[in-house]
Amino acid sequence: MRVVAAVIGSPVAHSRSPAIHQAAFDALGLDWTYVAFDVPVGGVAAAIGGMRALGLGGLSVTMPHKAAVAACVDRLTPDAAALGAVNCVYRDGDELVGDNTDGGGFLWSLEQAAVTVAGQRVCVLGAGGAARAVIRAVAGAGSSEVVVVNRSAERAATAALLAGSVGRVGTDADVAAAAVVINATPVGMGGDPGSPATVTAGQVAVDLVYHPPVTPFLAAAAAAGATTVGGIGMLVGQAALAFERWTGVAAPYAVMEAAVRDN
Ligand code: NAP
Repeated sequence: MRVVAAVIGSPVAHSRSPAIHQAAFDALGLDWTYVAFDVPVGGVAAAIGGMRALGLGGLSVTMPHKAAVAACVDRLTPDAAALGAVNCVYRDGDELVGDNTDGGGFLWSLEQAAVTVAGQRVCVLGAGGAARAVIRAVAGAGSSEVVVVNRSAERAATAALLAGSVGRVGTDADVAAAAVVINATPVGMGGDPGSPATVTAGQVAVDLVYHPPVTPFLAAAAAAGATTVGGIGMLVGQAALAFERWTGVAAPYAVMEAAVRDN
């Protein structure tokens, strides 16, 4: 019988998840269909009830529901529990499990670019949902120091805790000493000419912003001779991990990346 998977969010029309996941199901010949549901704020518990009642095979969760879903599932993975945010729900027997694949997807994107954070100083710009996943992931991957630089200091302090003993709050002055500088703010998105920081040769500049694929931050970094990593890899990586949780089948990364670039 055909299995249905879905993304919930609001708004959700812009989501690339349907294109990415349907391409992956089709490429592997899986009899799955992926749809998008616009779920209003306050409708999350009913939507999760719908997933149970209708037997959906998997769920992606996007803004603004990541925290609300965490309160409605039967169990959270350690990543989702630590972040207080769920971006993917999968079935484990009768249980619905809330997971967060952003950090794993981010590390996958670094691996593709042959960038390592183990033993390295990392500077994360931003302290929102994406930054929090990245902070936890790079600390878990063995970064020697994770410095969080953010507009609002209070949010930076909370986010830095996710890196445990290697985390601290920093300022713009910390960018120069970092081996890897990660933009997790929306600066540079969708035609914004701004850049969140300046890096030099020998550093790695990573941008989570994926529209455009080459942001002003990455363009300037490349011109300065730095290594650059764009946000499309994380987008593909987090989706691929969700796909694997749902289906138990290895994700076709190349197909999913092509679907992102074409949509
Ligand atoms: P969020 O939760 O709203 O957090 C945004 C963060 O950026 C906050 O720390 C905020 O600072 C800071 N910020 C916002 N505008 C700023 C500005 N003009 N100057 C300096 N700092 C600013 O957003 P998010 O979900 O973490 O997403 C952040 C970015 O990552 C977005 O561009 C999103 O598209 C991208 N993203 C990419 C992927 C991927 O797969 N590649 C996944 C998730 C997100 P305050 O705390 O002071 O408000």
